Order: sequence, then structure tokens, then C-alpha cells
Amino acid sequence: MKKIIKKIGVLTSGGDAPGMNAAIRAVIRAASYYKLESVGVYRGYEGLIEGDIVPLTARDVHHIIQKGGTILKSARSDEFRTIEGRKKAYDYLVKNEVDALVIIGGDGSFTGGMVFSKEYDFPVIGIPGTIDNDIYGTDFTIGYDTALNTAVEVIDKIRDTASSHNRLFFVEVMGRDAGFIALNAGIGAGAEEILIPEEDMGVDRMLISLEKSRRSGKTSSLVVVAEGDKTGKNVFELASYVEENLPQYDVRVSVLGHMQRGGAPSCFDRVMASRMGVKAVELLLDGKSNLMVGMINNEMVENDLELAVKEHHKINPEILRVSEIMSV
Ligand code: ATP
Repeated sequence: MKKIIKKIGVLTSGGDAPGMNAAIRAVIRAASYYKLESVGVYRGYEGLIEGDIVPLTARDVHHIIQKGGTILKSARSDEFRTIEGRKKAYDYLVKNEVDALVIIGGDGSFTGGMVFSKEYDFPVIGIPGTIDNDIYGTDFTIGYDTALNTAVEVIDKIRDTASSHNRLFFVEVMGRDAGFIALNAGIGAGAEEILIPEEDMGVDRMLISLEKSRRSGKTSSLVVVAEGDKTGKNVFELASYVEENLPQYDVRVSVLGHMQRGGAPSCFDRVMASRMGVKAVELLLDGKSNLMVGMINNEMVENDLELAVKEHHKINPEILRVSEIMSV
């Protein structure tokens, strides 16, 4: 039987991403539009277990759409992985008369939401918020576009100093399991080589390619490396390996790190997050649960949370081909 939803809770979980605030705002505003009450849960599942829950109205979320990070804070919670932890979370939801949850996060957060929803027959909808863009069922995740643009902006600056000194720079960007940021920022910034987890280019092929570039007259070069690339060497080891084998190169390393998570969200992320927040509330009102909102071909879509967790968002081979052609 369709459950009547009167009050919706929203939380952000896992790694933070720019645009999460826009999604929180959209959930609260859509709830208000449909005459529902709403609450925010601080610090993801950790806050849920501790009852860190506050009522939020449409006015409480004003002027947050442009802010990076998440006003609700994010956390990882080992206790939520236990039956006892989830029981505490459920008790606090009942105490606060919350009928449904919107979870903004990555696949780990969706797994937690799915387990919880099945255990307590509690309506849950996921919104993909992670800079990695590694979630199946959506062309883009909230935060990815902003992170990509941050990475390109910084790599452009590194290019300026690289070309002034005829240097070779290795630039590490985020992406332990997914190369979306590395591949697209690499193409966008005109990198000579791009190393991503999805493809094992092999270090020796990279050496040949760099040597070819040098002979063809390139005086500086950029190699963009995803954190989780498959060469078996970290970015510093890669740089040393190239220095040993191609002593003509003056090699430097730059690790972009957490700056990629911060900053004001791009307009693209703000609009997509707003659309996803509205869609999530409308799905709950339709009596749906255990779904993730996504955007495919610029349309809002829904997918089973289980698919979002089990399947992988694959890199478009056409983009890989373009990257290869560009490094000629
Ligand atoms: P990111 O992609 O940015 O890392 P994420 O959502 O994948 O984000 P995780 O740390 O993997 O981040 O998961 C967030 C939280 O979800 C965990 O700290 C845990 O509380 C909960 N969670 C993950 N897997 C499970 C599970 N199997 N059962 C219960 N809870 C889980």
C-alpha cells in the first residue's frame, strides 16, 4: 500500500561535493511547494544515529545554492553498517515523525540507504552527489562539472610555468576508481598523456610517447594522472621513472588534492541539483522508493538503487579515442 508522506528528511553522506547545497535546497523547497514538512539530518548516517535532526523550511535554505561543501556536513559511519546502528537511526526517524529520506551521496551511501530501506520498509530516494562521476544511471553526478572546471583551471596555470621552463609536469587529479576527471580535464587542458584506472597504458608506452613528443619539437609536456591509475606506480614514482629513463626531461609533480572538492558549484551543477531535488520529492509523493534520480540525455530519470550500486558508469570510448588523437 502507498505510504502517505507528510515529512521528508534529507542528508548528505560520504565525500562532499560542490552542488550538494543546491540539492538540499531543492528538496526542502519542493517539499514546501507540495505542502510537506521537512527536516535536515546533520553529518549523514552518523547524525541520524545520534538524532542530530533539525526542522528546515524553505526560508532556512536561502542563499546556499552558490555555496560549496554541504551545510548539513557529511560523514562516514561504521555504526550504520550494524543492525544496532540502523535501529537507532530508525528510532530517531520515528521520534521525529519523518516518513521518508532523501540521501545525497555516492554508491556507499546508497548501499546503506538500500539496506535500511529494506530492513524497515522505509521510503528512500538517492541523489548522486560525488565529484568522481562514477555512478551508474546518470550521465553526470552533482559536483563533477565543478571539480572538472577547477582541475582545468589549475592545470592551465601549471602549463604556463611548465612551458616557461621547458618542463614535464605530472599532475595528479582525484579519481581512485574512475578516470572521468583525469580524462576530461586532460583533454580540456591539452595534456600530452592521460593515465586513468579504466585503461592500462603501461609506463613504457608512455616513455615512447613522451620521447616522440620531444623529438617532434614539444618543449614542455603535461601528463594528467588519476589517483587510481593502473601503472602500479604512484605519481612520484612515475615521475622518477621518467627522469631515470628520459634524463633530457626536467620533471616536476603537482598533486591537486582536496581543492578539487571545494569552491562554488558551477551553474550546470546548481541547475542539475535543483532538478534532481524536485524529482526526488515527486518520486516519494508517487509512493516510490529505493530509486536513484539521474540525468540521461538532459532528462530526469529514475533507476533502482541496486543498479546504481552494482553497475559501473563506463567511460565513453569515443572520448578515449579523441584523447589519443589529440596527443599525436
Ligand atoms: P564517495 O563516493 O564520495 O566516497 P560514498 O557515498 O560512496 O561517497 P562511503 O564512505 O562509501 O561514501 O559510504 C558512506 C556511508 O554509507 C558509510 O560511512 C556507511 O555509513 C554507509 N554504508 C556504506 N556501505 C554500507 C553498507 N553495506 N551497509 C550499511 N551502511 C553502509
